[in-house]
Amino acid sequence: MVATSLSPANLILDWFDLNQRSFPWRATGGENPNSYWVWLSEIMLQQTNTTTVQPYFLDFIKRWPTVNDLASAKLDQVLHAWQGLGYYARARNLHKCAKIIVEEFNGEFPDDEKKLLSLPGIGPYTAAAISAIVFEFNATPVDGNVERVMARLNNVTKPLPLVKGELIALAKNSTPQKRFGDYAQAVMDLGATVCVPKKPKCSICPCKSICIGFKAGNPEKLPQRSPKKALPTRYAKIYFMRNHQNQVFIRRREEKGLLGGMMELPSTEWSVQHFDKLEESFLSIGIVNWKQIPNSVKHTFTHFHLEMQVYEGVADENTDISGIWCNLEDLDKQAFPSLMKKVLKHAMSYLKI
Ligand code: SF4
Repeated sequence: MVATSLSPANLILDWFDLNQRSFPWRATGGENPNSYWVWLSEIMLQQTNTTTVQPYFLDFIKRWPTVNDLASAKLDQVLHAWQGLGYYARARNLHKCAKIIVEEFNGEFPDDEKKLLSLPGIGPYTAAAISAIVFEFNATPVDGNVERVMARLNNVTKPLPLVKGELIALAKNSTPQKRFGDYAQAVMDLGATVCVPKKPKCSICPCKSICIGFKAGNPEKLPQRSPKKALPTRYAKIYFMRNHQNQVFIRRREEKGLLGGMMELPSTEWSVQHFDKLEESFLSIGIVNWKQIPNSVKHTFTHFHLEMQVYEGVADENTDISGIWCNLEDLDKQAFPSLMKKVLKHAMSYLKI
C-alpha cells in the first residue's frame, strides 16, 4: 500500500509493510493473532527486550501451549520458568490471570479494553496492545518507545514525567482510523529499530521529512527527563545455615510484597539502619558459631539499593524453625530470585561447596 498523504501514520505503516520485525508471537501472512501468545509476550516484554523474551516465550508455549494449560500449572513451576525475567509478581499475576480467563471467560480473552484492564497484571499499555493487535480496536498502547517517537516527531522539549500526558495525547491523535494492530506494532518497531534512544537513524527513517525534532537538530536529546532522585540503601544480615547432613535451610517469602512467594535464605529485616544497629534475633536459634563471610552482597531494586552481610553456620540437631532443609544439589530447582542466587553463590564459593 502506498501512502496517500504525509501523515506520520501513513509513513509509518508503509515503512512497517516492508520492514516489520518477525517474532514467534506475531501473526504473519494474514493469520489471526493468537490472543494467548500476544498477552504472554506483552507481559514478558513489560520488563525486558525482545531478544531476552524470545527463548522464554518459546519455553512457555512448549510447556503450556494454551492458556488452559498455563492455568492448570503449579505456581512454583511458573515461577521457576520465569527466573531471569524480572519481578516475580508479574509471574504470579500471569498465573492468576490465566486462571481467571479460564474460569470466568471460558478460556477466551475478553474483547473489551475495560475488562482486560480489570485482570491481574494487565495495565493500560498491555490492555491497549491486546485490544489493538488481537481485536483490531481503536486503541493506542503507549510505552517508552512510543513516548520517544512522539517526543521527537513533535519536538516536545519539556521533561518526563511532567510531559507524559501530552505524549499520550499525541500518540492517540496520530493513531489512524484503520489497521490499529499494525499501527501499534509499527510504532513499537520504529522506536526499537530506527528511532532508538541513542543515535537515532534519521537518515533511513520514514518520518524524516516531517519530523520536527530532526529538523530542530538534536532529536537524540528527546525526550528529556527530570533528574532522578538518588536511591536509598537498606542493610540486612542473611544466614546460610546448614545441618549435619549438609542441607541448606531455606524458606518461602510471604505471598504479598517484594519477591512475594519466592524462596529465600532467612535474613534480618531489610533496614535503613546500618548493619551495626540491626536486630540479630535470628542468631539465637541454636547456632553458636556464626561466621561472617567477607565482603557483602549488593543488589539494586527499582526503589532502593540493598547491601547484605552473609553469615554461615551449622545448626544443632534439635534446632526447631519452620522452613525446608534443601539438598545442595537441589538448590537450583528452587524458585530463588536473583538476589538470593547472588547470596548463595557468594556463600558457596567462599565455603568451596
Ligand atoms: Fe526519530 Fe529521527 Fe525518525 Fe525523527 S527522523 S522520528 S528523530 S528517527
